[in-house]
Amino acid sequence: MDYPSKKSFTNKPTLKGLSLSAIKDIFFPRSCIQCSGPVEESPYQYICKTCSQFLVLAHPPNCKICGYPFLVDKILSKNCPHCAELTPSFSRGYTLCLAKKTGRQLIHNLKYNNGLYLRKDLETIIHQLPHLRKICQEAILVPIPLRPTKLRERGFNQSHTFAQVLQKTLNANIQIENALNRTRFTRSQSTLSRELRKKNIRKAFALSPNINLDLKKKYILVDDVFTTGSTANACAKVLKKAGIRSIELITLGYG
Ligand SMILES: [Zn+2]
Ligand SMILES: [Zn+2]
Repeated sequence: MDYPSKKSFTNKPTLKGLSLSAIKDIFFPRSCIQCSGPVEESPYQYICKTCSQFLVLAHPPNCKICGYPFLVDKILSKNCPHCAELTPSFSRGYTLCLAKKTGRQLIHNLKYNNGLYLRKDLETIIHQLPHLRKICQEAILVPIPLRPTKLRERGFNQSHTFAQVLQKTLNANIQIENALNRTRFTRSQSTLSRELRKKNIRKAFALSPNINLDLKKKYILVDDVFTTGSTANACAKVLKKAGIRSIELITLGYG
């Protein structure tokens, strides 16, 4: 029987000199949320280099309502065709990425797979969109509240998590205020048509009790996805009625 020589023991690779995160990567290799492959040489922690190419960030210029990035230089309209007919109660909307392929997976994992570990990757995305700093400067972020049953199920509100990452990353003197409440049971919006969504969401929100609004400040609603804009619009209406004059919207993804 062959025993390893003493020399081979002493030449074993050591973990000395490696950073804590490098050591962690050896024992718990990170896999990509989109393809499950290993994540190496990628700017992201949980998106591999290949899948990061399918993460379309919403660099300006954008649609003024949903934030959809116009992928051409010459803009003929301020709004995308999807928003042409919309006259929402918020004045501007921004988004971070398209909710397609890797973007969709990112939002899905954040929402349904206890995705708090994705905060670092959200920071990486925000760093690539420096115009957001000016937009959020001195603003009050208002996360759109989840239905109480969903909050209990999930344990956290992904819009609140997103607002916290914006606050931490942008360093723009941002406040977060849970200024809104759900007022009554509403069906999940995801299976409804645009018309039914509007009806379903009407009067679903109210100001939180004992909230002190600063009418001079800009309030930015924070949501995970812009689909038809009806949820954000219902929330904007409540803020507008309360006297807020500057209301904008920021979503993690469009689509
Ligand atoms: Zn991948
Ligand atoms: Zn649009």
